Amino acid sequence: MSHHARHSPSRAKRDLVCAAAASREALLTPSPSGKAAAWGTDSHWILEQALLTDTPCTHINVPAEAPHDEFDPSDWDEKQRRAQFAFAYAQRVKAQAGGPVSIRAEERVYPGRWLGIFDDMDGSVDITIITAIMLEIVDYKSGRMHVPATDPQLKLYALGMVLEYYVEGQPLPFTTIRCTIVQPNGSDPEAVRSVDYTFQELYAWLTDVYSPALAASNGPDPVATPSEEGCRWCECSKQNTCRELATTALHQITQVEQPIDATPYLPEIGGLSDSELCKVLDAVPLFEGWIKNVTEHIFNRLNDGGTLPGYKLVRKRVGRATWTEKDDKKLRSKLKNKKLPIDVYAPRTVLSPAQLLKALADQPDKLASVKLLTHRPEGGLKLAPDSSSSPAIVPGSGAAFGITDLDETASTETPAQPAQSAAFSCLE
Ligand code: SF4
Repeated sequence: MSHHARHSPSRAKRDLVCAAAASREALLTPSPSGKAAAWGTDSHWILEQALLTDTPCTHINVPAEAPHDEFDPSDWDEKQRRAQFAFAYAQRVKAQAGGPVSIRAEERVYPGRWLGIFDDMDGSVDITIITAIMLEIVDYKSGRMHVPATDPQLKLYALGMVLEYYVEGQPLPFTTIRCTIVQPNGSDPEAVRSVDYTFQELYAWLTDVYSPALAASNGPDPVATPSEEGCRWCECSKQNTCRELATTALHQITQVEQPIDATPYLPEIGGLSDSELCKVLDAVPLFEGWIKNVTEHIFNRLNDGGTLPGYKLVRKRVGRATWTEKDDKKLRSKLKNKKLPIDVYAPRTVLSPAQLLKALADQPDKLASVKLLTHRPEGGLKLAPDSSSSPAIVPGSGAAFGITDLDETASTETPAQPAQSAAFSCLE
């Protein structure tokens, strides 16, 4: 697995919104990666092997030796299934290209070289597709968190890959540079999202937008600027070491200036002006993220044998029973030996619409005909800023009334991400 350079492309979003993040994170020991990250690493490994051997992901078996430290062979079928979606996408592009196509896996790129930076800014591109007219960078996302195709990570990957073909004064061998996200299990029903650029557009972004942000980040006194998209993945936020984030979150959510070490004072909601109410709603994602990180920080401390006056660890409710036999074939055989009828332990059931539509994602004809058999009920109501692209619902005009959610990210140019749930899962 790749190391994380101080300004790796995957951290570009953070560098763009918070100048202090890179230097402060460099002082911290990175938190261990969670189960979801390890799951994704396994699925990426399957995709890489499939691309290298030109074999469908479903034929990539559990390796005899662990390919990375957090390797976990469980859930292999699902890891294969999601990776196969990205593999099939690359195969489709190849089939439709109508000419020579090169598909490369896990290529290391160094976009910082455009700016004279020779380390601290490298990353690996999941899939690179080169046709006669196009360079396509494909980033496979195995998780649910929405990532737009305009993400700066992909722009840097693309610029890094262009370096391989760039000769000063000569035209590039392709006219279009496409950045694509393939996310089969994402919150966005659009599992493949692409955006096209010219090289000139990408280079202008690099010099006019990214380079100044990088200069501020590497300058003598970088400023910390809390924001949901910056702080969400920042190590300082995870380890609760960022005072600016804590005070901003508290101030924004309470609308009251208060020192970090005082008990928060919450004002009467009825006493808040319209603009204060808006600021509170704007701050919800930032505050939820901060609460989540504080809670995790304390949980980890107690879990490591530490203490916090007034708190202890207790058991959650007993979990759901799971099969001790993980191999499906062996499990079926063992159940069969119990003389149970197959319909009792493995009844044939129809997949849910979402499962079946996903399974048919690369068969457009069947997908369209099966879609006719489905019905999607209207969603409940949620709050959203005026800038949201969703049309406003007027209560009493036929829509059921009842707040079900807060669409907190719809004001940005990127599509809404799922709200972070208030994370009290480690406390009862
Ligand atoms: S937690 Fe947020 S404000 Fe603090 S350094 Fe990280 S990104 Fe910047």
